[in-house]
Amino acid sequence: MRKWVSLLLLAAITLTGCSVDLSGLLNPPRSLDVPRMAEEVAAVRQLDLLQPIPCETLDPQQLEVKLAEMNEQEADPAQTLAAEKVMKFLGLLPAGEDLQAVMDSLYGEQILGFYDPQEGRLYLVDRSGGSAGAAGAPQNWAVLDQERITVAHELVHGLTDQHFDLLRFDEPKWSDDDDTATAVDCLIEGDASLGETLYLTQEGQDWGSLLGLLLAGVSQDSSQLDAAPPYIRDSLLFPYQAGLLFVQTLYEVGGWTAVDKAYEEPPTSTEQILHPQKYIQGNDPPLAIPLPSSPPALADWRLVYENVLGEFDFAAWFRTFLPSEEADRAAAGWGGCRYQLWEEGSRQSFLLSSRWDSAKDAREARLALERWLVERFPGVTRQDGSATTQQGAEVTAILDSQEEELKLVIAPSPALALELFQQLNSPRRLNGPRQGVQGHINLRQHTATPSSPTNSSATRQLRPSYPSPAMM
Ligand SMILES: [Zn+2]
Repeated sequence: MRKWVSLLLLAAITLTGCSVDLSGLLNPPRSLDVPRMAEEVAAVRQLDLLQPIPCETLDPQQLEVKLAEMNEQEADPAQTLAAEKVMKFLGLLPAGEDLQAVMDSLYGEQILGFYDPQEGRLYLVDRSGGSAGAAGAPQNWAVLDQERITVAHELVHGLTDQHFDLLRFDEPKWSDDDDTATAVDCLIEGDASLGETLYLTQEGQDWGSLLGLLLAGVSQDSSQLDAAPPYIRDSLLFPYQAGLLFVQTLYEVGGWTAVDKAYEEPPTSTEQILHPQKYIQGNDPPLAIPLPSSPPALADWRLVYENVLGEFDFAAWFRTFLPSEEADRAAAGWGGCRYQLWEEGSRQSFLLSSRWDSAKDAREARLALERWLVERFPGVTRQDGSATTQQGAEVTAILDSQEEELKLVIAPSPALALELFQQLNSPRRLNGPRQGVQGHINLRQHTATPSSPTNSSATRQLRPSYPSPAMM
């Protein structure tokens, strides 16, 4: 269920820049006729409705039960815990937070409806509290309009599922690469967001729907979302906002046919979502980055999680300590990445290897990571050149960029950090005659005690990870 959940439709709608004709407010919204809407949405999305899409309404308590059921079937608690550990290590989730609980409360607050591809059924969440009719007419209109918009969005999911089989994107091969999984989410959510918007702006539809949505959006409680760690909030919104712009670009280039084709050749990175031309031109596919599968230095350690940080992740990570524009610039030029988090008791080690489009791109990312290390591990001392240590130090980090490559090792001792760094470079030898790292320059060593992220401004998130660390 990490996909196909309508969270902030308001955010998606406002991005499209439609102008709203206020005269629609004079027309009361039509009642909710889902079978009829399914035909209308199918016509807009230009996909035949192959079979009816049943719709069921849940109150918030029933939603809770349904989410728990779906979680039971689909979520892997070990994966969620692993994602939580990575987020906490990177300072993206405050130390005391429980990722599952954060996500549960966000879903409880933000879900307006969802499409369940297992059942081919659409669920609508009734948040009126049984007070329909008690409130004034405009409020009722707003609720009804919000429901119509939600239903339109979920009907697009239903249609694309009937034609392109959304369940195949939940297969294990997608969980090996969070960045690709997020890119696919962006296609799916961007499609539904564009379809919903075009449905609402069709001639003959009442513009009051859009206004009603705005009214409903204003009245909807978003306190949990507002209070969520920024990385999690960014991750929740990304498939809707960036996904919409991505799908909109495809649509402008080749209409719905181009969007349909994207299901056959899905985007493979969030870099392609953020820069749709890269997807359209197909000239910058993500690079596979080798990591040692079982570093001898970590023989007694346990691999907590191994995955990919994409351009979205780097940008969202960098935004936790840099202004947005600077963060986005430092994350641009992403080429490929792989990371591992290991643990032994309470000790943790982190390995990251990445490749960038140019040496300049790698250098920009390195400068950002240097800033992060200083902020994440206050009191850090930085030494250039050879690896040295400090008495009583708990963390040693080695950050190194060579041409387009950027590597980072964080370990609880200088000796282990250095050994891991050397092992991290060993896959390079398998890849042909690239320069070795001996005598490398710009070796940085950071030695400090990790700060608690709870009281720092850097308490943001790493990765959209729920229930699998791949993001909703
Ligand atoms: Zn959706």
